[in-house]
Amino acid sequence: MKTPQISIVAPLYNESESFPLLVKRINALMDSSPLAIEVVLIDDGSRDDTALKIRQLALTDERYHGVFLSRNHGHQLALTAGISAARGTEALFVIDGDLQDPPELLPEFYKLLKDGNDVVYAVRKKRKEGFVKKTGYHLFYRILRSISYVEIPLDSGDFALISRRVVNVLNKMPEESRYLRGMRSWIGFKQIGFEYERDARAAGESKYSFKQLFQLAYNGIFNFSEFPVKFMSRVGITAILISLVYFMTVVIKKMFFSHVIEGFTSLLFVIILFSGVQLLALGIIGEYVLRIFFQSKNRPLFIIKEEIVNREYI
Ligand code: UDP
Ligand code: MG
Repeated sequence: MKTPQISIVAPLYNESESFPLLVKRINALMDSSPLAIEVVLIDDGSRDDTALKIRQLALTDERYHGVFLSRNHGHQLALTAGISAARGTEALFVIDGDLQDPPELLPEFYKLLKDGNDVVYAVRKKRKEGFVKKTGYHLFYRILRSISYVEIPLDSGDFALISRRVVNVLNKMPEESRYLRGMRSWIGFKQIGFEYERDARAAGESKYSFKQLFQLAYNGIFNFSEFPVKFMSRVGITAILISLVYFMTVVIKKMFFSHVIEGFTSLLFVIILFSGVQLLALGIIGEYVLRIFFQSKNRPLFIIKEEIVNREYI
């Protein structure tokens, strides 16, 4: 097989049921596409026969590349494994293995990549999921956007076509708690959204438990915002200010109206003041912890897009 230009990367966890349809649709796509495509299928420690199916396919069809994890690592890590194993020289097309992200969109995404974009990410116009999940997602993305220090696009998951140079940076980001859609935005270059209607699962149930979903949301908030720590300091400062205003009103009341309940006033003042001081102190410690936290991520400090240097003048 020629070196692939594009790698389709799909993590699978107990997707035996939808597997035949996935392969059928990807094969149809590859047969109709002029691009050299490989398909990286990651078995994330499935308990059904997903691994067996991937194995058989990878042994018989050279376009398929199987990656088998030692146990269930979760979607984000399975994807990370697939991304680092993929060899596509131009771009990686990251999709879910349950056919919620139609592989047939590749040609349209590829066109946008060729127009000079480095990341073409899918934006969900409509979701075919339950009301609670839909509302949860909707709120989460909006909260994250308002508090995050990188601009994370609304309503977009990991479904995207990512250029090789962005993938190379992703592979150099060793952070352990991963929120790939955020990391992808953080890398920069030119990124563009592509609206689509998210299909329902081809078969089976969601493999993301509520716990995993919360973990993902947590990773998004804690890895891409300083808000939780800053919020603590802000509440602290507000409490200190409130206590001071309260103190002054009491003093004024005492001077001019001389009707103040003894004891209670000073107690309340001290409680509010010191609660504020404590929160502020925690916020200050938090600032140091944040710095350690960000340093420990070991992300590249900068990513150069281009360099122009004229050798004649040096
Ligand atoms: N997945 C995985 N490991 C897990 C959970 C899910 O590899 O621990 C895969 C799953 O097989 C699917 C994709 O990640 O291909 C998205 O998961 P799912 O469809 O369950 O999530 P949802 O679409 O419900 O958010
Ligand atoms: Mg799904």
